[in-house]
Amino acid sequence: MEYNVTLIPGDGIGPEVSSAARMCIDAISEKYAFEINWDEQIAGEAAIKEFGVPLPEQTLNSIKKNGLVLKGPITTPVGKGFRSVNVGIRQAFDLFANMRPVRTYPGVESRYKDVDIVVIRENIEDLYAGVEFEEGKKGTTKLIKLSEKETGKKIRADSAVSLKLISRYESERISRFAFDYAKKNARKKVTIVHKANIMKFSDGLFLQSAKDVASKYKQINCDDRIVDNLCMQLVSNPSQFDVLLCPNLYGDIISDLCSGLAGGLGVAPSGSIGEKYAMFEPVHGSAPKHAGKNEVNPSACILSGALMLKHMGKKSAADALERAVLEVIKEGKKVTYDLKPRKPVSTSDMAKAIVAKLR
Ligand code: NAD
Repeated sequence: MEYNVTLIPGDGIGPEVSSAARMCIDAISEKYAFEINWDEQIAGEAAIKEFGVPLPEQTLNSIKKNGLVLKGPITTPVGKGFRSVNVGIRQAFDLFANMRPVRTYPGVESRYKDVDIVVIRENIEDLYAGVEFEEGKKGTTKLIKLSEKETGKKIRADSAVSLKLISRYESERISRFAFDYAKKNARKKVTIVHKANIMKFSDGLFLQSAKDVASKYKQINCDDRIVDNLCMQLVSNPSQFDVLLCPNLYGDIISDLCSGLAGGLGVAPSGSIGEKYAMFEPVHGSAPKHAGKNEVNPSACILSGALMLKHMGKKSAADALERAVLEVIKEGKKVTYDLKPRKPVSTSDMAKAIVAKLR
């Protein structure tokens, strides 16, 4: 059986971690008698150099054709330059659900031993919709005047404005995804995350939509937390949480917080999933100061590959790959610097050690 997958190596450490993941996925697919045809495409800094745009047409066409993407991280300039390629792909292919499983692994130093949380984040709207109004522009002044008239609230004339969009449609769609995920993966509880006490309309709609969906999944417990309270409870007692259902911005922050609880970005995978397309990538960024040194941890990208295999219906191969990563981390001999071994190995040597453990 053959599968076509678009591979975007990405920027900074992206090419190193994605080639490590490719090596491990090729090895496991050979053992389980299927084949992946990698269609390598560029995005981000490399694409700007070659095509003058961060997300070229041929990369988009490849994703359209293959439906599946494994991606390394891509550098996003802060406050200037091109808009995030990641957000661009999520929006172009309607990847409405972001899923980040976070668990503690024996061998990874962490404050807690029993974290096993899945953060499910709405991926399309909220403050990430990219609907922004620049300070001093005509449209911004018009919007400010209209808002003042409609709400009776004073807004400073020198404000920039980003719209927080929360729709009933997207709130229900992500809630169904979260409850279906909980049902399929034998999870017991979904916690809805919000700030509906302050943003009564937008977060209020998210909370109400999620509760409406929850009422159709009687076998799964459901509760909710105000986001600031959730942060406090996560850092003091994370094992009480199971699946967290979040609007986009809170989900972004909470999932990094959870990665920190479980021992860091080097082991945190993610999937962005839509009805027709899916993309898998490590949670970490392009870590430019480590680029080209063959020294960072490839586990997050390899585990993202395991999530992709599971999504393709290759559960046994995915479980075998995850087991091999866990064994290498637990032994702690052939691991990268961030896992604090006595003698760190390179990115590629850690990947080779994982391949050697595949069964
Ligand atoms: P980062 O995740 O790139 O790096 C932060 C630090 O975490 C690194 O300096 C390093 O110490 C550690 N780290 C990250 N990945 C590691 C790994 N695999 N192994 C060991 N240690 C690792 O975060 P940043 O510095 O805030 O962002 C750098 C760039 O990446 C920015 O341009 C940002 O926009 C981009 N970014 C992209 C994505 C994505 O493509 N999905 C995600 C996050 C950040």
